Amino acid sequence: MKKVDIKTVNEVNEFIASIIKELCKKHNVEKPIVVVVRGLPMMFSPFFGAGKIILNSIVYAFWEIDRESAERILRFVVAHEFKHYLQYLAGEIDFAITDAVYEAIKPKIEEAAIRFAEEYSKVSSAEVSTIFKRLFEVAAKTYSKRLPMMEVNVDV
Ligand SMILES: [Zn+2]
Repeated sequence: MKKVDIKTVNEVNEFIASIIKELCKKHNVEKPIVVVVRGLPMMFSPFFGAGKIILNSIVYAFWEIDRESAERILRFVVAHEFKHYLQYLAGEIDFAITDAVYEAIKPKIEEAAIRFAEEYSKVSSAEVSTIFKRLFEVAAKTYSKRLPMMEVNVDV
C-alpha cells in the first residue's frame, strides 16, 4: 500500500492555506481558528465546526493521483466549508441549536454553501462528485488507510 509523500502534504497544505487566505481577504474576516486535515476513516466528509474547518486527508492521495482534479475538488470543498464559517460569523448557524432546528435550516444553509463553492471554484457540485468517485476508487485501491493528519498553518 502506497504512502503519501511528505512533499505532497506540504504542497496540499500550502494550497489549502492559499485558498483560505484569499477568501479571508475577499470577505474581510479573520482566518478560521484552525484548518485540520485528518485521516481515518477514508471517507470524504469535510465539515465546519466551532471555528474549525476539517478536511479529509484523502485529498493528499488525490493530489498524487491527479493534481489538476485534486485542485478543483479542493477549491470547491474549502470554499464550501468557508461559507459555513461565514454563516457562523453572521449568526446564521449556531452550535447551540438542537439537531431538530438544524435539520430544518440545513437545506437553506447547504444550498448557499454549494452556490458559494460553485461560484468560487467554477466547478459544479455534479462535477465534484464525478471527480471524487473516480479518484476515490484509485485511492482506496492503492493507498494505505493511514494517511497523515495535519494542522494547516494559515498566515493571514
Ligand atoms: Zn455543507
